[in-house]
Amino acid sequence: MLIAQTNHKKLMFADTAAVKARDQMFYCPACAQRVQLKTGQVIRPYFAHLPRQACHIFTEPETEEHIHGKLLLYDWLNKQRLAPELERYLPTLKQRPDVFCATTSPPSAFEFQCAAISEEELRFRTIQYMKSGIQPYWIFPVRKAVQTNAVQLSPMASMTSYEHSSLRRHSRLNSSYNIYLDIKQNSFYFRYLLGRVSSQKCLQAFSISELRHMSYFYLSEPPKPTIENRHVVVLMQIKKRQRYGRINRHHEVNFQQYLAAQFKQPLTMYPSAAGWPLPLATSFFNPSYVWQTLLLSQVKKQSSVSFHELTKSFRQLQAQELWQSRSQPLAPVTFEDLLQQYKELLQQMHLVSHTDQKVFSWQGDELFSTHLDQAFYDDQQLVQVWKNYMTRLLS
Ligand SMILES: [Zn+2]
Repeated sequence: MLIAQTNHKKLMFADTAAVKARDQMFYCPACAQRVQLKTGQVIRPYFAHLPRQACHIFTEPETEEHIHGKLLLYDWLNKQRLAPELERYLPTLKQRPDVFCATTSPPSAFEFQCAAISEEELRFRTIQYMKSGIQPYWIFPVRKAVQTNAVQLSPMASMTSYEHSSLRRHSRLNSSYNIYLDIKQNSFYFRYLLGRVSSQKCLQAFSISELRHMSYFYLSEPPKPTIENRHVVVLMQIKKRQRYGRINRHHEVNFQQYLAAQFKQPLTMYPSAAGWPLPLATSFFNPSYVWQTLLLSQVKKQSSVSFHELTKSFRQLQAQELWQSRSQPLAPVTFEDLLQQYKELLQQMHLVSHTDQKVFSWQGDELFSTHLDQAFYDDQQLVQVWKNYMTRLLS
C-alpha cells in the first residue's frame, strides 16, 4: 500500500515517509495493525503488514506494476481536478479501491487489477459498489510480452472469466468492452467484444488512447474500434472449420439430433443465415450457429411471426437450460435485446422483413443450401453484409 496512518491519525504517502519520517510508527488505515515502511533501489517506497498479520481488506504482496499503475491513474484523475483519493478505505463496504473519486457523479472506484481474481469475487465487489451508488471501473494491465491472458491485438479474444464479468456497456454503442492500462506507454486499451464464435472464443477489436488525450468521462464512452478485413478472414475460417465438421460435438449433440430429426440435415450444413457474431451475444454461452438456426427455423416455419412469440419460445429454451448466460453486472443483456440485434442483421441480409411494426416474415429462399460448396459460397456473400452491419453498429 502507498498510504498509511501516523500516530496522529494522519494519512501519509510512503514517498513522503521515506524522506521525512523514517523512524515513525505507521498503521494500516483499514485494520489498524502496524505496518512497515519498505524502501529499496528498484521499487518505490511502500507500506507492508508485518509478517503473519493477516489483513482481510488490503491484500499483499504489492507488485511494482500495481503501484505504478495506481499512481498513474491517481495522477491522471488529479490533473482533471477530480480530487482522487489513493487507497481510501470504505468501512461500510469493507473495500479499499486503488483510487476513489467522491467528486464524480456517481462517485467512482478504480481497481487496477493485476492479480487474478475469482469471477465470483469480482462480481460480488462490483454489485457491492453499485448498491452503494459507486461506479466501479475494473482496469487490467496490458502485458504484451506475456502470452497468457494478454491483450493481444489478435482478432480472436481469449479472456478469463473475471474479464468477462467486468465487461461494461458503451454508453452509446450497443456493445461491451473492457479497459486495460499500458503503464509503459501511458495508454488505455479498450477491448470490444464483437460476438461469440464458439463456446470458448469471441471476436474482438480494439481502440487505444493515450491518457493525456482522455478525460475520465470517456471511460464510459471510449473511442470506437474498427472492424477490419482480418475479422472477416477469421470468421470465414471458423465457418469453414464448422462446415468441415470440426465442431465441438460434445456440446452440440442435442443440436445435431435436432437438425437431423427436423430437417434431415447434417450439422455441417447449418444455414448460412446463422453463425454470425453479435456484440450482445457475448454474455451467452450458446454458439451463434446453434441459437440462430433454432430461431430461423421458428421464423421460417410460419408465414409471419411476432417478436413476442419468438421471445416466448426462447424463454422455453432458457427454462430447459439450453440457453445459458453469464452475469455481467456492468453490461446486463436480455435475450430480447439480442434477438433484436439478430433481427436487424437479418433485415440487412434481406432475409426477413416486417409485415407490420411488430410482425415479420422470412423473405429468403430455402434455409439450407443444397450442398457444401453452395453453403461456403452463401457464407461468403453474407459476410460482407455482416461486416457492414457491425461497422454501422459501432460508429
Ligand atoms: Zn490492514
